[in-house]
Amino acid sequence: MSTNNENSIETSQPNETTGKSDKHKTKMQKLKSVVDASIAAADKEQGIIILMTGNGKGKSSSGFGSAARALGHGHKVGVVQFLKGEFTTGEFLFFSQQPNCEYHAIGDGFTWNTQDRDSDIATAKKAYAQTEKFLQDESVDLVVLDEITYMFKYDYLPIEPFLTALRQRPKMQTVIITGRGAKPELKEIADTVSVIDDVKHAFRAGIKARPGVDW
Ligand code: ATP
Ligand code: MG
Repeated sequence: MSTNNENSIETSQPNETTGKSDKHKTKMQKLKSVVDASIAAADKEQGIIILMTGNGKGKSSSGFGSAARALGHGHKVGVVQFLKGEFTTGEFLFFSQQPNCEYHAIGDGFTWNTQDRDSDIATAKKAYAQTEKFLQDESVDLVVLDEITYMFKYDYLPIEPFLTALRQRPKMQTVIITGRGAKPELKEIADTVSVIDDVKHAFRAGIKARPGVDW
């Protein structure tokens, strides 16, 4: 006996199929009224804070995916990339060429590479200064703060001034925060929080990080 779904549809009797279609239709009608009601209830117009955290892959790619969407709509995007310097990541090569995107990659690399806390803090302060500029600029529709979570995780930067800057930012501005180990204060202030699970990663099977996929 086949367990294939397509086969079971092919072999089902006409009445059975009609019954299934009717049930499906009723179910979808109910679902549509629920969805329509929640769409009608969500009527506030404002920018939001999105936090992408967790150990799984997809946090920065999500931030840059949203940046592409925003640029597609003619919005202005500001990016501050903490940790990563201006080396050849695909996101830097692409977004720094976009006229509506102001891109700052201010970093000396991962903490386990620099191994120098004082210089990491000095770099973090530079990147943070640019962050505050964006958060005060009404013309910037979307701000992507890539890997900023580490600045607070390692206490390179105090979190309070950042929370204040987020609260005082222009009303329509959206901010995307990415990075592992987000502090509870960031989860609290964000409107949308996604924690990406690390179910599997190709790297652990010995597959090398790939340009265009990982960087
Ligand atoms: P991406 O930039 O691909 O969206 P990310 O922002 O979620 O990934 P980071 O923690 O910033 O993940 O890691 C950056 C790099 O490490 C990327 O090259 C990514 O593919 C890789 N990476 C992400 N998650 C894992 C993991 N669980 N194990 C090993 N490498 C990972
Ligand atoms: Mg990342």
